[in-house]
Amino acid sequence: ATTVGVLAVQGAFSEHITALKQLGVHCIEIRKPTDLTSHPLDGLVLPGGESTVIGKLLRELALFEPLKDLIQAGLPVLGTCAGLILLAGQIAEDDTIHFGTMNMVARRNAYGRQLGSFQTEAEFDACGTIPMVFIRAPYIESVGVDVEILATVDNHIVAARQDNMVVTSFHPELTADLTVHQYLLRLVQQKAKPCVA
Ligand code: GLN
Repeated sequence: ATTVGVLAVQGAFSEHITALKQLGVHCIEIRKPTDLTSHPLDGLVLPGGESTVIGKLLRELALFEPLKDLIQAGLPVLGTCAGLILLAGQIAEDDTIHFGTMNMVARRNAYGRQLGSFQTEAEFDACGTIPMVFIRAPYIESVGVDVEILATVDNHIVAARQDNMVVTSFHPELTADLTVHQYLLRLVQQKAKPCVA
């Protein structure tokens, strides 16, 4: 079976595990460096939560460097919400960079901190229309030429892919729709165009 590591130091990781298990994926909760080596990983999920807290814990738990190495080596990775911020090469009006592996500018709490939670539906690449739950979400302000835009809501980029990395500013794990998790699994299977027949 496909094995996916789910970063489990803070945030909405258990919902990702529930979604992946429905797709027959074996999940490993990543809390310490040996969790990355006990079993070969086919993919990785960086969940939503609080990116400042997750970034701090990654460094304290000595997970930062090994995870960055795996991502740079091409391990397929899905980053949702805070996970998107972790992958962003730049964060608007913020000097912080975490993994910084994706050629894009992300804006944190882009919809405002208080009134920041809402649900909508939009097209996700060629996969059709899917439900999207936003919780104090970032959006992607701009992308480099090597980044493919997968979804927009109100003219803001809310999902994108670069090579082995796919990110959403919404929370696919908080709806019953499995499209985004299936997209990750197709990246694992190395299909370049996940929703095109
Ligand atoms: N606002 C959070 C951050 O900046 C992200 C919110 C989320 O992951 N739901 O990290």
